[in-house]
Amino acid sequence: MKTLLGKGQIETLTTHYIDGAFVESHGKEVMDIIRPTDGQVIGRVTLGDEEDARLAIAAARRAFATYGRSTKEERAKILRRLHEAASARLDDLTAAMVEEYGGVVQFAGLIVQAGVNAFLATEKALQEIPWTRSWDKTTVTLEPVGVAGLITAWNANALFICLKLASAVAAGCTVVIKPSELSALQTRVLLEALHEAKLPKGLLNVVTGRGDVVGAELVRNPNVDKISFTGSVAVGERIMRDGAATMKRVTLELGGKSPTILLDDATLDKAIPTALIMAFLNSGQACAAGTRLLVPKSRLDAVKQGIRNAMRAFTVGDPADPKTAVGPMVTQKQFERVQSYIRKGIEEGAEVLVGGEGHPEGLDAGYFVKPTVFVNVKNDMTIAQEEIFGPVLCVITYDSDEDAIRIANDSKYGLHGAVLGTDLQRARHVASQLRAGRVVINGMTDDPQAPWGGFKYSGVGREYGRYGIEAFLETRAILEA
Ligand code: NAD
Repeated sequence: MKTLLGKGQIETLTTHYIDGAFVESHGKEVMDIIRPTDGQVIGRVTLGDEEDARLAIAAARRAFATYGRSTKEERAKILRRLHEAASARLDDLTAAMVEEYGGVVQFAGLIVQAGVNAFLATEKALQEIPWTRSWDKTTVTLEPVGVAGLITAWNANALFICLKLASAVAAGCTVVIKPSELSALQTRVLLEALHEAKLPKGLLNVVTGRGDVVGAELVRNPNVDKISFTGSVAVGERIMRDGAATMKRVTLELGGKSPTILLDDATLDKAIPTALIMAFLNSGQACAAGTRLLVPKSRLDAVKQGIRNAMRAFTVGDPADPKTAVGPMVTQKQFERVQSYIRKGIEEGAEVLVGGEGHPEGLDAGYFVKPTVFVNVKNDMTIAQEEIFGPVLCVITYDSDEDAIRIANDSKYGLHGAVLGTDLQRARHVASQLRAGRVVINGMTDDPQAPWGGFKYSGVGREYGRYGIEAFLETRAILEA
């Protein structure tokens, strides 16, 4: 079967993927899939219930009895097969992301490619992990934690599924995935692709459903050993609390309010477009978006002028157009959330430099917002402290490098950060003092072997490369007398 995303066609999804096959949903609730560019219904998905989740968990548990004892070579082979299978549907996956949540095509393409690459990057990491260490009469081995529940956010759903699946499979775990209910179409395309990898039955199971139904069942079910979650702080807190009853191991990839520090030796012509790209990543709906831009007080006027000029390149519109930089918000609710924060910013005394409330001109139909830059922002304002998850940038001034570091770290979050400057030594020194899981210097770059995850409220644990695999492992020592 091949999902077609033709215009005007309504896709109907009624199955989950359990024990190696697409099976009809036990749950009966039907949810509309709405296209964010115009609010039209483009599909209907039947949501799973607790029974679907339990069937999937049972299949994963059965499969773990065998797969949990697989060799490194067998796991590597499976990762290569997954990579090949997912690669075959790259374009369909990108199209589904653009259609279903309005991801701009340039970014959606990168996200999908990163997801597909994760299988090979994880295979590389698998080869590098010291699986067994022995000394004297002691042998230490790394063992799979068991059945893993993988719960994803909508904003890069395909990437999260591929990444979490790759790490779990490399560790020898079997999985039940609960994708975001806002990503049913993308998940379906990805699943059709992964089905072709002909995995051992029960290794991969996917149940689409509500978080408080299917997700909650994964969290409380004693046959699930580990939860790897990407999403909001509120749900992350709940998973940690509810998972405690069955001693769940948890990895939580949560939100952010990431700082970009523009040092006073930065070349503004380069630094400002870079800062804006980081702020408006995925139309601002990115956990790592650099939504606080810290600038030296002495350069504020030049920065303001630079932002006004550079913002002309950040066009809002059809996400399928490669020239578009900012697409719609994912839902009406998200549109309203962004509007309410823009209002709040104005009420709290921040000044709108670019953008503001309402729809951009000529884009009234969908969930489009105006990319907005605030100046005169104090770091204790709501818009500088809370994650908005939309294209809203706060410009905050500082007096010295130490002051910039203090402001950057004055946040409950610590997921990502950026430093922009000419003197690399100085930029590195500043980067090394940021309380964040990842800091980039002079551009939004990535390395699939480098860990990803947050300090403080941005989460618990790490993903990517060997760090991601280790999150699905237990350590066992055998000692001979
Ligand atoms: P969300 O927390 O609303 O939902 C995430 C997932 O959790 C969904 O699949 C949802 O159905 C499920 N869920 C909801 N309630 C649940 C429950 N009680 N038990 C189990 N699962 C439940 O988040 P979202 O709106 O999908 O995503 C946006 C958030 O995700 C933002 O805060 C963003 O920063 C964060 N995020 C973090 C990263 C990262 O790598 N750190 C990446 C992307 C997004």
